Amino acid sequence: MTTEIHQIKVSGLTVDVVRKDIKNLHLAVYPPIGRVRVAAPLRVNDEAVRLAVISRLAWIKRQRTKFTNQARQSEREYVSGESHYFQGQRYRLNVIHQAGAARVVIRNKSTIDLYVREGSERAQRETVLLEWYRHHLKALVPDLIAKWEPVIGVKVADWRVKQMKTKWGTCNIEASRIWLNLELAKKTIPCLEYIIVHEMVHLLERHHNDRFTELISKFMPQWRLHREELNRSALGYEEWEY
Ligand SMILES: [Zn+2]
Repeated sequence: MTTEIHQIKVSGLTVDVVRKDIKNLHLAVYPPIGRVRVAAPLRVNDEAVRLAVISRLAWIKRQRTKFTNQARQSEREYVSGESHYFQGQRYRLNVIHQAGAARVVIRNKSTIDLYVREGSERAQRETVLLEWYRHHLKALVPDLIAKWEPVIGVKVADWRVKQMKTKWGTCNIEASRIWLNLELAKKTIPCLEYIIVHEMVHLLERHHNDRFTELISKFMPQWRLHREELNRSALGYEEWEY
């Protein structure tokens, strides 16, 4: 399938427009800077896209403000008192200085104790915590893939965890390889499971078309709930009938 991408200007806003063989028009605003992207059905022309964007300008502005605030919030210092999420739960970070090896421990279901050397820098504290996230995320993935392989009827040859800006996961169909966003370590396990199932369904169907929706709805009827939960926290996303 060839997809044509071009840009239009709407009220000073640059909008990426992608034409696809889809039924509905999708408008999405992406972090971190609030890039606006419209996926439009083939029969919907630029003028109609422009009108659709204009009718959603207030919403787009709200999403962009949200990202600016989130970006400010995500500039973490990794110091005591900050909130950090792990597997869908919110924890208070507590930095403890000690001479031994760096480590992370959850305490009282409420606190993440981060043990680092005296005089550690922000980047070092971040690295320790991200490695801890990576370790826990990677521990969950094999069982989830093994659980779904016989159900979906596909084999995942390889999977990796990676920091990604705009996607929860990607699938390389030719290599049967799945990449998962490290951010998923902060989300509930059902959300992680949904992304794994989503990427595995791509091994049966490349595109987000009717067949894809049919397949994923068969395997995981409640997938939309998980998608909503993920999008609530990170991506502005809207879709409507056209
Ligand atoms: Zn997909």
